[in-house]
Amino acid sequence: MLGRSSVLGSDEIGRTAIINAINSLGISGSDVCIHSSVRSFGMPLKNGLKSIVDAFIERHCTIMVPTFSDMFEAKPVEKFMPPQNGAGDYSFLMEKQYSNVKVFSTDSKEITVEEMGSFPKFVLECEGSVRGNNALNSFTALGPNAKRLVSGQTNKDVYAPMKQLYDNDGYVLLMGVGLESATIIHYAEQVAGRRPFVRWAYDENMKTVPVSAGGCSEGFSHFEDILEIYADKTTVGNSRWICFKARQIVDVCSRAIKNMPHITHCDDKNCDRCNDAILGGPVLNEDFWENGV
Ligand SMILES: [Zn+2]
Repeated sequence: MLGRSSVLGSDEIGRTAIINAINSLGISGSDVCIHSSVRSFGMPLKNGLKSIVDAFIERHCTIMVPTFSDMFEAKPVEKFMPPQNGAGDYSFLMEKQYSNVKVFSTDSKEITVEEMGSFPKFVLECEGSVRGNNALNSFTALGPNAKRLVSGQTNKDVYAPMKQLYDNDGYVLLMGVGLESATIIHYAEQVAGRRPFVRWAYDENMKTVPVSAGGCSEGFSHFEDILEIYADKTTVGNSRWICFKARQIVDVCSRAIKNMPHITHCDDKNCDRCNDAILGGPVLNEDFWENGV
């Protein structure tokens, strides 16, 4: 610890350490989707989470974080319950308690913080953040390209921000978390021809509407070997950062999914979501999003 103390002046991570990491990854000026474990730093951040945001903004980045929000999930309705939807016979979802379901709006600051972590919550609450319009799996961006990154997101098109990140030649940065957190691999599944699952929320008239949402990500660590050569790495405190170009992770994973569909499957062979994803996801009529099954 002595060595570290002499560099930083104390056992904490400052903005400079984060700026150095951004520089070493060569991602200044880019759009960066961040998945993070703040605990992974292993020591306090000087100025808290603000030091991360400030460093990226100072390096002219636009950051994007997942701001998923289970509290807006509503009970399924017959009309929008397609087959092969990662829901088994739907009994689990029909019997689940959905108390006090609220109406989502892009102004909402609610987030499932237990799953998302404290950094997405912090970004969501920053002045100037822009939240995508998907009731359950929104993304929130902050910085010069924020609006462009997330404004295409809708209940029907959950991964529009990922497509935009790809088109903008952006990056996915894993801060002390593994590939299971890399939502962009769900977008790669979509590129490979799979349809995202359908879940439900209320619209502003308290009518239940379908919402496309992500599936099981527990098997995504299986991509580690094939992604290894595309991974740029650095360390901040004790936090291991792994960075991918969005284009590379999507292209490599979608190709692998086409060639080896089971690569995405988690350890549970009875996982409804993994089994149905491999079959292609929910079977939807052409006008499902208007008229249902
Ligand atoms: Zn699974």
